[in-house]
Amino acid sequence: MKKIIFCVAACLFIFLSTTSTFASEISDDFTKSNVNFRIGEKSVEWERSPLIKNNRILVPAQSFLSNMDAALNWDLESGRLSITKKESLVELTVGEPFIEVNKNKKEMDISPVLVDGTVMVPARFVAEALNYKVNCNLQDNMVALTENNGSVDNGQDTSRGKERKKYIVVIDPGHGGKETGAIYGGVKEKDLNLDIAKRLNKLLKAEGVTTYMTRTGDTYVSLYARSGMANKLNADLLVSVHNNAGMSKLKGSMTLYYPGTGNSKGNLSAKTFASIMQKGLTDGLNMRNMGVIPRPHLAVLRTAKMPAVISEVGYMSNKTELANLKSKNFKQRAAEALKDAVLQSLKRI
Ligand SMILES: [Zn+2]
Repeated sequence: MKKIIFCVAACLFIFLSTTSTFASEISDDFTKSNVNFRIGEKSVEWERSPLIKNNRILVPAQSFLSNMDAALNWDLESGRLSITKKESLVELTVGEPFIEVNKNKKEMDISPVLVDGTVMVPARFVAEALNYKVNCNLQDNMVALTENNGSVDNGQDTSRGKERKKYIVVIDPGHGGKETGAIYGGVKEKDLNLDIAKRLNKLLKAEGVTTYMTRTGDTYVSLYARSGMANKLNADLLVSVHNNAGMSKLKGSMTLYYPGTGNSKGNLSAKTFASIMQKGLTDGLNMRNMGVIPRPHLAVLRTAKMPAVISEVGYMSNKTELANLKSKNFKQRAAEALKDAVLQSLKRI
């Protein structure tokens, strides 16, 4: 019995001494601060105290950014933070002393840190990147942030009359080159897919979405290159446009997705994205609903790091649907239905 008590005491001692070592390491480097922040008219309530290091104040990213009406996308695996507000995209990485403002990289004399699961960011660097003026009054223990108005950037924004986040969507016309996809009545699936995808690309660009296409002509692109392109671009969504084939009686739209949670973005899982896209097609084109189908083995979907779908617009093997798919009007309506569903999905990111 004594032995057990001793063992427990020893374990407790080791545990306590370990935690105190960590605590002293943090306090050597950082000082907790009770500095007050005002953003515009609002006083900021923190989920944890700001820290001061080398005269730089680090603040919890989440409450800081929500008080500035900026959106935060935080990738736990890479430590990468993407902050969006209006036309600004600000990117930082935990442990790295750099800040990228609309892809322009600048050095900082401090790095974002992770403390007990809370990401802390350098207040001044982030605020200035988001077009705020920073006034420090250390006598009153107060930092005041005011949003700059009427700057050149804002002037450009208001001409569009809308505030919008910068989104990247990769559009993938299925098949291409030696891979024709299905062929019915001399019509090749690869050509239908490209035609609809090009229309979708034009419509999304007109809405201010940044788009990329995996192919713009009749070329062969491997499945991995398609998702690889979207991953490299850190795209928000990947839309692969296809058309179906099967028994001649079958008709309607179908949407495929990879079942899993690793490829969610913001409030949008691949499954939700697929459901929105499917509803877009069935409602927008008055198509039969052939379902939202989980497909764990399709390379394009499985290897995409963002919500991705394969939109099977219609059945080439069905006479009526093939006739529809041949008409420009129908292809345009299909692209419009996909565009509306993409825009609806982006709101969740
Ligand atoms: Zn296909």
